[in-house]
Order: sequence, then C-alpha cells, then structure tokens
Amino acid sequence: MAKVQQTAGRDTLGNFAPMFAELNDDVLFGEVWSDDTLDLKTRSMLTVTTLVAKGLVDSSFEYHLTSARQNGVSAQEMAALLTHVAFYAGWPNAWAAFRMALPVYGDELEDAQPRGGLFGLGQPNDAYAQYFTGRSYLNPLTDPEKTQFVANVTFEPGCRNSWHIHHAEEGGGQILLVTDGRGWYQEWGREAQELHPGDCVTIPAGVKHWHGAAKDSWMSHVAFEACGSGMSNEWLEPVSDEEYDRLD
Ligand code: MN
Repeated sequence: MAKVQQTAGRDTLGNFAPMFAELNDDVLFGEVWSDDTLDLKTRSMLTVTTLVAKGLVDSSFEYHLTSARQNGVSAQEMAALLTHVAFYAGWPNAWAAFRMALPVYGDELEDAQPRGGLFGLGQPNDAYAQYFTGRSYLNPLTDPEKTQFVANVTFEPGCRNSWHIHHAEEGGGQILLVTDGRGWYQEWGREAQELHPGDCVTIPAGVKHWHGAAKDSWMSHVAFEACGSGMSNEWLEPVSDEEYDRLD
C-alpha cells in the first residue's frame, strides 16, 4: 500500500515544535496511517468518528472528511456513519459534522440525484438492462399499441447502451432529441459526437451505433422510432471501457 505523505506538521510547526512536527508527519501519518493492517478507508472512518465524538469539527476535521472521500468513503457511507455516531457522540456534534460534510460531498450528491430532464425519469429500464452498461431509466410517452412509440431514456453518468442496429425493410431508423445533461452518440467507424440539450440525432436504419451519457454527467433523450416497415432491433457487443474511456 502507498505510504501516506504528510507535511502539515513541519509546514506549520517545524520551527516551533520540531519533535511534534516529526511525530505528526513521520510517525502518525508515515507509520501509523501507512500501516496496512487497516486500510485507509477504515482509518478515515475511525478518525472522522473520533473527531466527531470529541466535538472537533475544525479545519482538521474538514481535512479528514476530504481525505475520507479520497479514501473511498462515499456520500451515502458518510451520511450513515454520522447518523450512527450521532447516537453515541451527541446530536449537536453530528449536526456540526453534517454541516461540514455537506460542502465536501456536495458535487457527489448532485451527481447522485437521478435526473430525467423535461420528460421525466420514469422507471429503471430493467427490461433492457442487458443491453446497457450502467443504469438507465425509461419513461414511455406514448402507447405503442396506438401510435408511434416515443420514450424518454435517461442514462446515469457512465451509462451507455451496447452497439446496436435499428433494422427496417423500408424507412425506419431512430431519432434522438436530447433534453438534459451531456452524452455521446457514435456510429461504427466514426468519431463519437458530443450531445447537449437541444441536439437532434437522426440515425438511419441499418447503421451500427450506440448512445449514452458522459462519464461525469446524466443524459436524457427522447427516442422516436422513425416510420417504416419490417422494423427490428439488433443488439450487439457492449461499448468497451477502452473505447468509452477515450471520451471526455
Ligand atoms: Mn439507437
């Protein structure tokens, strides 16, 4: 496991209290934090818990919240930890800790909120989950028994569908109207095209392609089956991580 590098002791107190600085940087962080009997995530959770119990929600607490997040404590886990600790350390201590944790985890919380854009999130797209990498949501907007099928599809960050082809004997294909977030559309053998709200993508029948969200953003589009006859969808291989990771 990588050693924890810490210079706060020497930076702050190197001249005034060199022994304290050395113990802080070299022993506490260099040896104790770097000992891999407990992993960094566990150490972060223990440290945050102890500081809350002592009512120490100062700048060092903020440092430990930030490093807890870096060490893999998710927003959900931090919320569960502070809720648990509230019963033992005291309600006001937990409140103070939550107030400090909120800005540290703010952007993660925003990312975690499912979004659906203008036409709503709908339900988890379980029926088609096998053709998607990551979670997607489907909100049918029309009844396909009665008319052309139109649905709002929402992709969580990193989610995309597999390569696929909309086949048709005549006409056909698919039209995407992007309503929220940021994502990608790519045709086989071509550069991926970045998608933003207001973009309209016309996918001809027979063209192998995929669509999905950007790594760091939700994306919603309304999908239409274009008019035609003899239509069917052919699902192919997933978009590999190597292909997808090349996109920003
Ligand atoms: Mn498609």
